[in-house]
Amino acid sequence: EGGSEPPLVVRDLRKTFGGITAVDGASFSVEAGSLTGLIGPNGAGKSTTFNLITGVHKPTGGTVRFRGEDITGMSTPRIANRGLVRTFQIARELEEMTVLENMMLAPKGQIGERFWYSVLPGLRGRVIEQEEELRERAWRQLEFFEIDHLAEEYAGNLSGGQRKLLEMARALLTDPELVLLDEPLAGVNPTLEEKLLDRIHELREQGNTFLLVEHDMDVIMENCERVIVMHQGQVLAEGAPAEITGDERVVEAYLGG
Ligand code: ADP
Ligand code: MG
Repeated sequence: EGGSEPPLVVRDLRKTFGGITAVDGASFSVEAGSLTGLIGPNGAGKSTTFNLITGVHKPTGGTVRFRGEDITGMSTPRIANRGLVRTFQIARELEEMTVLENMMLAPKGQIGERFWYSVLPGLRGRVIEQEEELRERAWRQLEFFEIDHLAEEYAGNLSGGQRKLLEMARALLTDPELVLLDEPLAGVNPTLEEKLLDRIHELREQGNTFLLVEHDMDVIMENCERVIVMHQGQVLAEGAPAEITGDERVVEAYLGG
């Protein structure tokens, strides 16, 4: 299955919103076990690309392959089930739930257990077992990100940095193979930033793969072995950090060229 194909392969991806072309034929791939950076000026199409890969939006054109399978246009839960997730900001309604409740909520929609529970009461015991398993995994993630002491706190009371840790913990609950991180360090203080980056590297050593959108060029240069540069919906350049910073076209793109 897939052979030597990289886990994520994006080909000629396109997305138009009315008259706006947000993604304009982007092609790139992400290697297994890598921490790959996705950079580009504001409006370059990075977040839209994430939304297309994870099924939040359907592409106007092009294909997304994950682990050798065409996942183009699949729903977000189906894609998550296959091991590809992105971090999401904590929505307003989730602010009124505790950190632990947020964690427990994460994979529920994917399992669809409520439905089975109602039609097959015999599954009750199994469902309760699953809940306990899930609770244990949730605790382990909270401990890993050192926010277990906040388990009973309302998500709405967390600091910006703590929310980012919760977002990560939530995304990682199902042990995904590939995680897309859209500016996970925005609004995070230096101490928490270091903690988050340490955790990412640790998870990578365990075999996870990350695609990271980040504004801070130093963070990209110090942490990513490969960088993809987007500009006006297209991939402008890709390569090692040193190659990227030496690329005149990249400099021009950032200067508004
Ligand atoms: P980036 O994340 O690189 O800053 P985005 O992917 O958010 O860029 O946006 C790319 C372009 O697509 C921008 O011009 C943005 O205004 C537009 N865009 C993004 N999402 C939508 C949407 N839901 N509806 C209309 N236009 C959108
Ligand atoms: Mg964005």
